[in-house]
Amino acid sequence: MATYNRLPVTFDRGEGVWLWDTNGKRYLDALSGIAVCGLGHAHPAVRDALCEQAGRLIHTSNIYGVAEQERLGALLTEQAGMDRVFFANSGAEANEAAIKLARLHAHRRGIENPAILVAEHSFHGRTLATLSATGNRKVQAGFEPLVQGFVRVPYDDLDAIETAATNRPNIVAILIEPIQGEGGIRLPSDDYLVRLREICDRSGWLLMLDEIQTGMGRTGRLFAFQHAGIQPDVVTLAKGLGNGMPIGACLARGAAAEVFSPGSHGSTFGGNPLACRVGRAVLETLIDENLTENAAAQGAYLLDSLRAALGETHGLVEIRGRGLMVGIELDRPCGELVGRALDAGLLINVTAERVIRLLPPLIIDRAQIDELVATLTGLIHGFLGDA
Ligand SMILES: *Cc1c(COP(=O)(O)O)cnc(C)c1O
Repeated sequence: MATYNRLPVTFDRGEGVWLWDTNGKRYLDALSGIAVCGLGHAHPAVRDALCEQAGRLIHTSNIYGVAEQERLGALLTEQAGMDRVFFANSGAEANEAAIKLARLHAHRRGIENPAILVAEHSFHGRTLATLSATGNRKVQAGFEPLVQGFVRVPYDDLDAIETAATNRPNIVAILIEPIQGEGGIRLPSDDYLVRLREICDRSGWLLMLDEIQTGMGRTGRLFAFQHAGIQPDVVTLAKGLGNGMPIGACLARGAAAEVFSPGSHGSTFGGNPLACRVGRAVLETLIDENLTENAAAQGAYLLDSLRAALGETHGLVEIRGRGLMVGIELDRPCGELVGRALDAGLLINVTAERVIRLLPPLIIDRAQIDELVATLTGLIHGFLGDA
C-alpha cells in the first residue's frame, strides 16, 4: 500500500557505511536505515550469526525453552542493569509491552483508570496505543478514537510534570525518549533524566524510557540513560538491536520486572532463536569492537567538523546531538535537501521539517566523516544560498 513517499532509488547491496544502487552508483549511508544498521551493512558477525542459526533452528515457540532468547536476555539485562526482558518484533510492540505493563502494575495496586505521562513532539510508534502516546497530530489524524490514558506535557519542562503530578492522582508512569529522534533531535537539559527519576521515585511512578532510537550505542553510551547515571524502571529497544533483523525488547527492573505473569502478554515470533542469535551478535560486536566508544569519538568529531564548516552560515539555527545522533536545524523547511543529497551520493533524512538528521553507522571512521561533512555542508550552503 502507498504508506511511504519513496525516493527514486533502489539499493542492491551494501558494505560497511556504503550502499550501491541497482545502477551501480555508490552512496555514503549517513542514516543507517533510520538508526538500525549500527554495525553498517553486511557485517560479517551479523551474516555469520544469521546463516549459522538459520541452518540450526529458526523458530519453535515461546511455549518451550528458547536457549538463544535466554542468552540474549542475560547479556542485555546485564549490560542495561535491568532484571528481566520481554522480546517483541518491533519498536512499537516493545512500547505496547511497556504500556500494558504500566497499566497492569497500576491495576494491581487498585488504580482503576491509570494514565501515563507522555511528551509533546514524541514518537513511540504506529500501533493504536503507541500512536496515541505519540505527540504528533499527523501520526494520529484519521485514526480516532485514540487510546485513552495518556497525559501530554511539553518536553524538557519539569514544572509541567509537577503540575500534572498534583492535578492527576491517576498518573502511574512516564514514557519518554532520552533524546527525541523523530521530533527533531531534541536534547533535554542535562539534569532532565535525573530530575525525572526523582519525581518518579517520590510519586511512585514508573520511569519508562523509549530508547528505540537512542539505544544500542547510538549516543556514545550503550544506552542514553547511562549519560545521566540513573536507572529507569522500564526501557524499550528495537532499531539497532537487530541491525535489520526485526526484534524489539522491553526491559524492566525491580517491581516492574515482576508485573507480567503467564498469560499477561505474548508474541508468536517475539524472542525466536534467529532474531535473538542476531541480537546477541550485534551486542557482542558493539562491545568487542568498542563501537560505543567509536560513536562517542566520531560523534564529537562530526559535531566539531559541522560547526567549523557551517558556523556562521546565515539560515543555520543550531547544530546539536550526542554521539552519532546529530541534528542540523535550519530556519526553513529543507526536505528537498534529501533529494539533492541522494544525487550527490549521500543518504540523509529531514525530520520535523527543518532538521537534517544524521544517524550514520557506529563503525564510521574519520575519513568517512570528512567526506560526509564536505558533501553535506556544500549542499547546505547551496540550499541556503539559492533558497
Ligand atoms: C522508530 C521508533 C519507534 C517505533 O519503532 P518501530 O520498529 O517502527 O515500530 C518508537 N519509538 C522511537 C523513539 C522510535 O525512534
